[in-house]
Amino acid sequence: MIKQFVPEVACLKCQGCCRFKEIDSVWTPCLLEEEVQDLLDKDIPAAYINMQRKIQPVPNPKGEGFLCAFLENQSNKCKIYNLRPFECQLYPFLINLRNKKVVLTVDLNCPYIKEAINKKEFKEYAEYLAAYLNSKEQLEMLMDNPQIIQAYEDVTDLIELKFPDAPK
Ligand code: SF4
Repeated sequence: MIKQFVPEVACLKCQGCCRFKEIDSVWTPCLLEEEVQDLLDKDIPAAYINMQRKIQPVPNPKGEGFLCAFLENQSNKCKIYNLRPFECQLYPFLINLRNKKVVLTVDLNCPYIKEAINKKEFKEYAEYLAAYLNSKEQLEMLMDNPQIIQAYEDVTDLIELKFPDAPK
């Protein structure tokens, strides 16, 4: 599990994550190969995972847009928190493909990050995360799962990762 920067209490108060404007939004969590199998082994309905190895969102019963199939809307909690995908552990940080470079970025739509981005703790965490992602094991994992390196827009670049050969 990746060490978290945003405290749980801040996440539970916010209604931003795990909700999407479009059913095929780039923001829906993309799964690693091993995560697809782990979820299927836990008897999670196969329909929750689409052909792009992403969690298939469901229509929001209380309003517009879509929700992650694993979001408990009332409590704002993840039903598979201990099994939540790598991308969900990483968020509001994202691995972004930009001009053929793989860059650690952050989403300033997260209110906690918006407040913290100029603080020393934020800089230290971003350095920890870049070092973690640049480890041999994590770089191999990323190379085995190029589907999770996506082109997100409106995010802030932090640190380029030492990715040997960026996916096209
Ligand atoms: S798996 Fe959990 S943390 Fe990830 S988007 Fe769905 S509800 Fe949110």
